[in-house]
Amino acid sequence: MTKTLVTGYPRVGSERELKFWTEDYFRGNLTADELQKNAAQLRLEQWKRQQRQGIDFIPSNDFSFYDGVLDTAYLLGAVPQRYRELGFNELDTCFAMARGYQGKSGDVKALSMRKWFNTNYHYMVPQLDEKTQLRLSGSKPFEHYSQALAEGIHTVPVILGPFTFLKLAQYKANRQPHDFADEITSAYKDILERFDKLGCEWIQIDEPSLVTDLTKQDIALFVKLYQKIHSFKGNVKLRLQTYFGDIRDIFKELINLGFDGIGLDFVEGRQSLELIEKHGFPKQTVLAAGIVNGKNIWHNDYKQSLELLGRLSSYTDKKNIVISTSCSLLHVPYTIENETEMQQIQKRRFAFAHEKLQELCDLQRIFDEGDFYKDSVYIQNTVLMREKLGTDEEIRKKTSALIQNDFVREPAFAKRAKIQKQALELPLLPTTTIGSFPQTREVKAWRSALKKGEISKQAYEQKLRSKTASCIDEQERLGLDVLVHGEYERNDMVEYFGERLDGFLFTRKGWVQSYGTRCVKPPVIWSDIRRTAPITIDIITYAQSLTQKPVKGMLTGPATILNWSFPREDISGREMAFQIALAIREEVLELEKAGIRIIQIDEAALKEKLPLRRSDWYSDYLSWVIPAFRLVHSGVKPETQIHTHMCYSEFEDIIEDIEDMDADVITFEAARSDLCIVDALKKANFKTQVGPGVYDIHSPRVPSKKEIEELITKMLKRIDKKKLWVNPDCGLKTRGEKEVMQSLQNMVDAAQSVRETLR
Ligand code: GLN
Ligand code: ZN
Repeated sequence: MTKTLVTGYPRVGSERELKFWTEDYFRGNLTADELQKNAAQLRLEQWKRQQRQGIDFIPSNDFSFYDGVLDTAYLLGAVPQRYRELGFNELDTCFAMARGYQGKSGDVKALSMRKWFNTNYHYMVPQLDEKTQLRLSGSKPFEHYSQALAEGIHTVPVILGPFTFLKLAQYKANRQPHDFADEITSAYKDILERFDKLGCEWIQIDEPSLVTDLTKQDIALFVKLYQKIHSFKGNVKLRLQTYFGDIRDIFKELINLGFDGIGLDFVEGRQSLELIEKHGFPKQTVLAAGIVNGKNIWHNDYKQSLELLGRLSSYTDKKNIVISTSCSLLHVPYTIENETEMQQIQKRRFAFAHEKLQELCDLQRIFDEGDFYKDSVYIQNTVLMREKLGTDEEIRKKTSALIQNDFVREPAFAKRAKIQKQALELPLLPTTTIGSFPQTREVKAWRSALKKGEISKQAYEQKLRSKTASCIDEQERLGLDVLVHGEYERNDMVEYFGERLDGFLFTRKGWVQSYGTRCVKPPVIWSDIRRTAPITIDIITYAQSLTQKPVKGMLTGPATILNWSFPREDISGREMAFQIALAIREEVLELEKAGIRIIQIDEAALKEKLPLRRSDWYSDYLSWVIPAFRLVHSGVKPETQIHTHMCYSEFEDIIEDIEDMDADVITFEAARSDLCIVDALKKANFKTQVGPGVYDIHSPRVPSKKEIEELITKMLKRIDKKKLWVNPDCGLKTRGEKEVMQSLQNMVDAAQSVRETLR
């Protein structure tokens, strides 16, 4: 009989319980014991659910309080000295590495954070330096395995593999992946041995880095690592799990390495089937066929999936096929059952994590029974798949009528830079923020009161206005040069726009973890997109009316709206991006008309969906996503300054494409990644003005004036003083008001001091 497998489950809890417990712990309102106890209960419920549903291979160690890569770093002893010196236990050491720490025991910054492959999940980047010695140093995976076992549940521990770990790490003191090969393999052997002793049958080793472009050295490193790991002769079976694409560069080597199981992604892995057809698949090896999409929320197409399974069974024994999720379900919400307000006609199109368990089991049953044309579940599914989603003919006509000129802003950058300089009269090193100010409990309470009908829309808007007004006051007092309205009206930068455009569908509880305790609630692109009314004009013009200084109009760009939504699967990304771009373009032009002189179009998620393989970058993505951005702003006057903002991604390798967005100013994250990006900008002769973040807002730590001054001075060695802006690295909405005001004051003071030295 075919089996079913889940490669990872969401962990925040269907009501985001874990988030709230953890944050309570941060605030000192929950003890470490309580936190651990609650988390253990949550894990148990999730294992039980999968067991009840009939999943054969249930993962453990997919749970984390903050991030799985961070946990792996701890497990392997990759804890930099400065965190060890705090003298904390495992839990608090990990939190200090994740968030930084400032208090009685010391003052340390957090590790860098990066996007997890092509998802909106962020992992903590392990740091390997001259002192690092990798060896088994933690016990979490064993504890979780044992916890499940004590309840009679045999789980498959999930461990991030050594290759991906070494590929994702950051190296100091000239060390490199190869230097750690021996240490890390013995650490993994120890891990296997421990699991062997616990009587564990299968281990899942995740190696998502295999779906990226691999060099000869990479392949050699991989083979070296695993040959050694395989020399461990115990009873534990290893499944090498890959996801987010196909493994074309290493498939041939991999199938000969003697793994007991190999997991392949057939959703994003365009060549996965072809590779098997071409090279075959070892008969004794279990094939975990990832066919239930772990990243999107549309129902699985059973016909398509069963056809694929049918084809696979001609290359390997049917009994060796395991039907699996394409990747961890971490990237989808818990359950459509929570969407009590969604219409049935919409609900039935979707499968979230719980429902995907059902899909796995449906597919298993239908595949095993073989007679699917008579199966009622199968027939229902094929009917559903034939239903068309909404089309707006007028919008379709507009996107297909776009011509070259619609994507070009006139005059060219240099000319309009001069015009803007005169029009805006900003000082050297202008200071600004990225848009949002702290969303205090008070602000959130207003929003929830409005939702519950406890206050009128009018009263709500009045409150927002007064909050916006005090935000403007504060910024004036701090001495910032370019102000923002604070984004108090926004729950989320994508949801806010989605809710005000035609074509989006919203969930009540469709939360997905983004980083640490932060979750996002991506909208669903449900039909064609259209702007039907002004979105931000009112609040921005109000903010501008309160000050002589320029207030930035604050919008979200098409790539980000698209990438942070669950996209349709029936039309192209290009079509969706252009539809969104046309809608946001209308808003840009209206802001300009209303007297707004600077407009920021956030593209926080631009890099996120960049294909993992270089050969697909242009054909699949950049060739339409960059033009979509230009389409948004190409209609403005030369004196209107267009800003954009990006975060958490290495965009060194697409600098030319970013330049090609033709913005006037770009702000981005830099403080956490040692200015590498600033060096790259210099090298590329970047023309756009830049604001590399001078401090990390994802940590509650307050940067000192001196530290910011030093950073600005360093930046000035690489960037022309006429082109440098001074700002935090991202929006401030997740921070507390007090720490924000202190940080910004230090930032403004630092900019002023450096400015004086430039006169
Ligand atoms: N303008 C947004 C804010 O300040 C940008 C957020 C982001 O980049 N993620 O919150
Ligand atoms: Zn940002």
